[in-house]
Amino acid sequence: MKLLEYQAKEVFRSADIRTPNESMVTTPQDAVKIANESVGYPCVIKAQVPVGGRGKAGGVKVANNADDVLTLASQILGMSIKGCIVDKILVSQAISIHNEYYLSVVLHRASKKPMIIMSPSGGVDIEEISKNRPEMIFKEEYDFILGFKDYTLRRTYQKMFQNQEEKVSYKEFKGFLQKLVNVYFEKDATLVEINPLIVHNKECMALDAKILLDDNGLEFHPEFEKYVTSNAEETLQEKMAREANLTYISLDGNIACMVNGAGLAMATMDTIKHFGGSPANFLDIGGSSNPEKVVNALRIIASNPNVNAILINIFGGITRCDDIAQGFREGLEKVKFDLPISCRIIGTNDEKARTILKEINIPVTTDMDEAVQNVVKMAKGG
Ligand code: GDP
Ligand code: MN
Repeated sequence: MKLLEYQAKEVFRSADIRTPNESMVTTPQDAVKIANESVGYPCVIKAQVPVGGRGKAGGVKVANNADDVLTLASQILGMSIKGCIVDKILVSQAISIHNEYYLSVVLHRASKKPMIIMSPSGGVDIEEISKNRPEMIFKEEYDFILGFKDYTLRRTYQKMFQNQEEKVSYKEFKGFLQKLVNVYFEKDATLVEINPLIVHNKECMALDAKILLDDNGLEFHPEFEKYVTSNAEETLQEKMAREANLTYISLDGNIACMVNGAGLAMATMDTIKHFGGSPANFLDIGGSSNPEKVVNALRIIASNPNVNAILINIFGGITRCDDIAQGFREGLEKVKFDLPISCRIIGTNDEKARTILKEINIPVTTDMDEAVQNVVKMAKGG
């Protein structure tokens, strides 16, 4: 899950990482109120959307007085940035900037360690810098036992600040990095990023913030619960699935899949592609036999307007095929849709299952390739 800037900065403040004085609001009137009463002028109005490049898209603007705040806040609220409609803005104290630095801690999958990435050439063009001037990007591995290695970090510190008017001390710099690494570990993040980082009164300060959380760690962090629903970049189907406790991921094809087991679900999607089709989703209904799950899964699948055929692929082990078939019988009574279904079902109690499915007119086979080839034809209208 991605935290929005204002949320990531709340995390920063709780970890003693300096940020400008600021507040999130959802109306131009509240923006003016905050600017007048606490943030002061000049201030920066910033769109809160889960995509980068807001600055370039016109989603970050400086306001010098209450009139500016009203105009800019009205402009930015409701604006669309890379397909995200802005419904929250941050009113943030404007800080004078000598230089924009880049700083992040990211999971380096190859070394299985956090990597600290730094540059004295941060700001909105960091992507181009990393492409065209890679010598301006510095990397430090964080060692689980040693922490930062002073002998390499000192060199990086020199390179970061050698041409700068306003510097921070090595102690401040290292202390700041350490706080960032602490956030990374304590919050189960996979990325903690500050761009730009600035030096203000000889101290580091985060003017922007981005945190990616490892979804598998979310259950250990009740403090993020309040963001899970508000940030959800979920499709309607993903939301329905989350509420029904099913693992579902939306894709852009037209063949809905309902499969038991994540591995089989992956193999099923590969097979659909192999035979020239395109899956509309990943859906794992899990290993247990529970007709209600099947009903929910059908409801979710059928709510996707892109779908024109359904593939069911069940390999029954712990899952009893007849329970699944029973789920279909109930599901087809409860959920109304008019889509062709291709079904492969094999394993525990599959004879019984096939009898039930035949009664409700679902074509059924024990062969996965055959079922997939059929559904690809159905999806093409054949
Ligand atoms: P992003 O474009 O989505 O990464 O949004 P940022 O928060 O990084 O803002 C983009 C740019 O706006 C920054 O690189 C700064 O140049 C500028 N900016 C943001 N906050 C301030 C501020 O407080 N003072 C000044 N002078 N510029 C700011
Ligand atoms: Mn930024």
